[in-house]
Parts: sequence; C-alpha cells; structure tokens
Amino acid sequence: MTQGTRPGKVGFIGIGTMGREMAINLVKAGHEVTAFDVRPEAARALREFAVRPAATIADAARGADAVVTMLPDTPDVEAVVYGAGGLLANPPSGRLVIDMSTIAPGAVRRMHADLARADIAFVDAPVSGGPIGAKNASLTIMAGGDAAAFAQAQRFFAAMGTTVSHVGESGAGQTVKLCNQLICGINIQAICEALALGRAAGVDLDQLRKVLLGGSAASWMLDKLGPQMIAGDASAGFRIDLMLKDLRLVAQQAQETQVPLPATALVTTQYLDARAHGEGSNGNQALFRVYDRMSGQERAQ
Ligand code: NAD
Repeated sequence: MTQGTRPGKVGFIGIGTMGREMAINLVKAGHEVTAFDVRPEAARALREFAVRPAATIADAARGADAVVTMLPDTPDVEAVVYGAGGLLANPPSGRLVIDMSTIAPGAVRRMHADLARADIAFVDAPVSGGPIGAKNASLTIMAGGDAAAFAQAQRFFAAMGTTVSHVGESGAGQTVKLCNQLICGINIQAICEALALGRAAGVDLDQLRKVLLGGSAASWMLDKLGPQMIAGDASAGFRIDLMLKDLRLVAQQAQETQVPLPATALVTTQYLDARAHGEGSNGNQALFRVYDRMSGQERAQ
C-alpha cells in the first residue's frame, strides 16, 4: 500500500454542514475517525457511520496521525489550537494539524509559526464545492504550508476531494480560497441581475438558465444555485452569514495589500442588506430576495 492510500487515524473537529460529510468520507476511505464538536449531539450522530465521538479535543487528538478542523471562523480555530485543552497542548501523535475552514491568512501564518515552534506541522486547506462536494468527496482543496506536511496530508485529502493543489506557503491556501469567494459572490449577483431582467421582460426563467448554461455565461452558481433562485428557495447550504465572513476576510486582505475591489464592495453591501432583512441563516443564493425587493417582486417566504 502506498503512502497515498495507507489507512490512518484522524481526529476531526467541527461536525457541521461540511465536517459531517467529510468525516464520513474519511471512514469510507478506510481511515479511523474520532470526532469532537462543541455540540456533542453532532459527533454522537456519526456513530452509525462508524465515527467515534470524542468528549474533548484531547480525546480526538490522542493517537491520531492528524487532526482536521472544519470550523466557522478564525476565532473558533484559534480557540481549538490555543485554548485550554487545545491542540497546542494536546497535539496528535503524527504532529499534523490540517485546518480546512475558511479563515484569515494572517491568523494561519501565526498559528503555523507558533505550532512549528512546538514541532507541530500546520496546513491550511480550505475547500470549495459546498455540501454537495463534501458529500460526494469531490471537493476542491487548496492547500498552503510546508511541502512535507502537505505530502503527509495527501492521503486524507484523497478521501475528501478530487482536485487537490499545493498552492504555496502557509496562508496561500486561504488567499486562493478568498479569490474563489469573491468570484462566487459577484457571480451570484450577476445571476440575480440576469434573472430579474429576464423575469421583468416575461422570459421563461428555466429556459433562460438552460440556454445560458450552454454558452459563455455558464457557471457553477448558475448550474447548482440557479434552480433555487428561480423557485424562490432560500434554504441553507452555504449560509449568508458565512459568505459575509468570507467577504470580510477578502476586504481585510485587500486593505493589507492595498488592492481596490469595487465589485466586491458592492456585493458585500447587498449581502449585508440580506442579513439586515433576517436572511443570515439562509443559503447565499438568497441574495435573490434583495433583487426581488429592489424590483418590487417580493415572493411569499
Ligand atoms: P457549520 O457552522 O455548519 O459547522 C461548524 C461546526 O463547528 C458546528 O457543528 C459547530 O458546532 C462546530 N464548532 C464551532 N466552534 C467549535 C469549537 N470551538 N470546537 C468544536 N466545534 C466547534 O459550518 P460549515 O458550513 O460546515 O462550514 C465550516 C467552514 O467551511 C467555514 O469556515 C465555511 O466558511 C467553510 N465552507 C463552507 C461551505 C458550505 O457550503 N457550507 C463550503 C466551503 C467552505
């Protein structure tokens, strides 16, 4: 058996929308998984998939080749790394931490340096592909960090994703992910505008989407989220709140690097408008409601 497929032991922290499916796929690929979440019921619910629930972070890390974290935001990952009972004090035996959340690149570089001083490797490996990609083990994984640590993480990435790239040093994975997110946000906005225009002109929107998917306006968002926008379905996959967190990280990075991003700034105000109207927990395709309101076409919720 090669290093690429050798079964290992993984501690998994953060059993939410994405983490749940990723932990299950690690088991399906032959790895032994122990899971921890601040909501103990989330980890317990994975028993039927042969994932062992852990009572603490240390319990999840004990004897593991690596710990994977899949948490909402930067302070959550910092709490799991630095907090009492966290990974800095209780590293996995394989001394490898793989963070797959979307968080601030600067915080990643700090954690990488602090963990390196304790001889623990840290790889930032955010993902794209949403809950569908997580379930189908077809995520795109963009990793930053030392080449040796990336190589060590590869057998676990292979269980969760199909496109796995080492894009540079620590923090580079997050920078690539933030570029991904600004394109997704602006793309959703463009689709909302096209649907609003087509609707006002009386065009059949299913037909419109189908035709656009065959041409140069085709996109993942139009394909996967277009049907929900047309149907007025705002149900969550990737929440508005998480998109706003990502757009905040994009804006921070833009400030730090002095890069003007006018289109990102505009779409951010529209996501804020969505949140102000109580849509924070809805899926990010719920941006269509902003366009419904602006064009006087509000639909029943
Ligand atoms: P989620 O909120 O559904 O899941 C996060 C989980 O982490 C929850 O179960 C929560 O209880 C747990 N948690 C929070 N703080 C914790 C702590 N200190 N210790 C242990 N557990 C803790 O979020 P999600 O949708 O699974 O997203 C996770 C990350 O992946 C985010 O950074 C998000 O931006 C990114 N992401 C999400 C999607 C998506 O479509 N949902 C796609 C790509 C990337």
